[in-house]
Amino acid sequence: MAELAWDFATKEGFRVFKEMPATRTPTRSYHARAGPRSPRTPAGVRSHSTVAAASPSQEAKGGLIISPEGLSPPVRKLYDRLLQFVEQKVYPVEPELQRHQASADRWSPSPLIEDLQEKAKAEGLWNLFLPLETDPEKKYGAGLTNVEYAHLCEVMGTSPYASEIFNCSVPDLGTMEILVRYGTEEQKARWLVPLLEGRIRSCFAMTDRKVASSDASNIEASIQEEDGSYVLNGHKWWTSVEQQGTVCLGPCLCRPGILDPRCKLCVFMGKTDPQAPRHQQQSMILVPVDTPGITVIRPLSVFGLEDPPGGLGEVRFKDVRVPKDNILLGPGRGFEIAQGRLGPARIHNSMKLIGNSERALALMKTRVMSRTAFGKPLVEHSTILADIARSRVDIEQARLLVLKAAHLMDVAGNKAAALEMAMIKMVVPSMAIQVIDRAIQAFGAAGLSSDYPLAQFFGWAQTLRLGDEQMKVAKMELKHRPRLQEPAAPGA
Ligand SMILES: Cc1cc2nc3c(=O)[nH]c(=O)nc-3n(C[C@H](O)[C@H](O)[C@H](O)COP(=O)(O)OP(=O)(O)OC[C@H]3O[C@@H](n4cnc5c(N)ncnc54)[C@H](O)[C@@H]3O)c2cc1C
Repeated sequence: MAELAWDFATKEGFRVFKEMPATRTPTRSYHARAGPRSPRTPAGVRSHSTVAAASPSQEAKGGLIISPEGLSPPVRKLYDRLLQFVEQKVYPVEPELQRHQASADRWSPSPLIEDLQEKAKAEGLWNLFLPLETDPEKKYGAGLTNVEYAHLCEVMGTSPYASEIFNCSVPDLGTMEILVRYGTEEQKARWLVPLLEGRIRSCFAMTDRKVASSDASNIEASIQEEDGSYVLNGHKWWTSVEQQGTVCLGPCLCRPGILDPRCKLCVFMGKTDPQAPRHQQQSMILVPVDTPGITVIRPLSVFGLEDPPGGLGEVRFKDVRVPKDNILLGPGRGFEIAQGRLGPARIHNSMKLIGNSERALALMKTRVMSRTAFGKPLVEHSTILADIARSRVDIEQARLLVLKAAHLMDVAGNKAAALEMAMIKMVVPSMAIQVIDRAIQAFGAAGLSSDYPLAQFFGWAQTLRLGDEQMKVAKMELKHRPRLQEPAAPGA
């Protein structure tokens, strides 16, 4: 392994390392598919994205675009502008943003983030996430395909702060997508427009404190019809809003008395009919966060840290009364909504983890070239080289799988991509954990500190690893007809 790594490093790595500034994300150039595409924006449609032109889906449904070089010229330009913005405006202010997060003011929005959001809007780098299939008229977003957005998403993943700056952070992007797909015109006017404009934030309350919520059919929180309203009761936790690149419950819920003026909406999941078939019991409903009956029991921590990457909350909903019109799509359709939204979310999360991993590797390479231990630079120790080689290979493999899943979603739909979507959840967080862990090791104690984004990346990757994907992949694989027909085993 060490020999292989040395070979790799001497042939490729040293050249690359020397050209690599500490903060620069490597641009990738492999095979690329490119083709001329004509932008189409329907006349008279209000656009909430500041992107002038992006590729339409049909033309983008050619071959798999495995590197940014294969993007159509307008999307490539968008990619380059995004990369430049992140490198020039976001990386340099990360230490300042980190200081804000550690300060007494950390529960209020950072003025620096707000300033960068205005700049991002002005540069046409806003609301890039809505897939074309969800928003075919490009009324709300940039009209990118899943594969196109995947490449941009990786760039955002290289900084813990970038997604929020471009209004592409969880859970808001999920809330916006749900509202675009399933919201009524009234729900869109009240919630979607301010979310798209970045004026408010949202949180998502699915996970029940007392039941295994990786199986969402277990969720016991209730949504009951009463006197023309819905009354909500439930004990939730990990109800979150992503703030400044970390997953946390906004001050709106976990800091009683200190309200974040931006967090206004909670998407709540609970049972409307416990007697209905298993996947028709759950519903999703929109809850203004200032509705009486919502109490924060305690803030939660991730790896002992409140923030970052924590600040999540345990929340009780007691007799929370909301108008019947707040139900999304209709009673019993919660799973349908969750399924519809699953694919793009998987791609976003996975590509952000690929971005985390690329940044971790870039930082690691710079670090090992500048530190000396036991008589030679760290980079000359064979185990470090082996780690670098392993990380490069791991990232490349994982990225290709994610792009394949995104491509399948674009050309054949989310259902056809079900196996790949389960596989990327199984593969990418574990890969990211290993790549980030190797970088942390190479940094020594500094890797665990908040001076670098590695610890934040590590916490996020661990969070995304929770789930039961291994089982899903195995079940789907066993259902498939075998590609190779094995002869019957003797005695079978
Ligand atoms: C930082 C962070 C942010 C979060 N944000 C939100 C949020 O915004 N909104 C929200 O509602 N929730 C949120 N969550 C909660 C998260 O969605 C749940 O923790 C997750 O769905 C798992 O549910 P659980 O904790 O109840 O684990 P359980 O359901 O108790 O499962 C525990 C573990 O069992 C294993 N498991 C499950 N099924 C199988 C199987 N079939 N085979 C083998 N093993 C299996 C898995 O490894 C699983 O992780 C967040 C969590 C964290 C840590």
